[in-house]
Amino acid sequence: MTIFSRIVAGEIPSYKVAEDENYYAFLDINPVAKGHTLVIPKREVNYLFELDEDEYLGLWAFARKVAKALEAAVPCKRIGVAVLGMEVPHCHIHLVPLNTEGDLNFAKQKLTLPAEEMQAIAAAIAAKM
Ligand code: AMP
Repeated sequence: MTIFSRIVAGEIPSYKVAEDENYYAFLDINPVAKGHTLVIPKREVNYLFELDEDEYLGLWAFARKVAKALEAAVPCKRIGVAVLGMEVPHCHIHLVPLNTEGDLNFAKQKLTLPAEEMQAIAAAIAAKM
């Protein structure tokens, strides 16, 4: 079971942003920018392009809704998108509020925000869903 499946199952806490029957969105614990959100299929599949077509398209449709809520909740110029999967073998889309192109640099020092701030950000995004 991946760490993300354990989050979906409620065994590990997360700063949940949104969920439906098949997909789940939550804040990245070590964000590259405030509001950095991960969008995942609940079904455990390692690689984005291994998803069957319906699930793949559904994931992007769900990510689009989350991105609009994120953009409404977190001041930024636009939402950047990345798919890496170098760390966690459960496919996920990174949604990152961008003010400069450097905000999408995953090699730089990540942020560590206080739990209260993470909670407040997640709640602000969830309120725009
Ligand atoms: P990657 O697989 O390369 O896309 O990176 C995995 C991402 O998941 C990183 O940005 C991590 O900070 C994030 N991450 C890992 N564990 C957790 C967790 N328990 N809750 C939220 N985000 C996580």
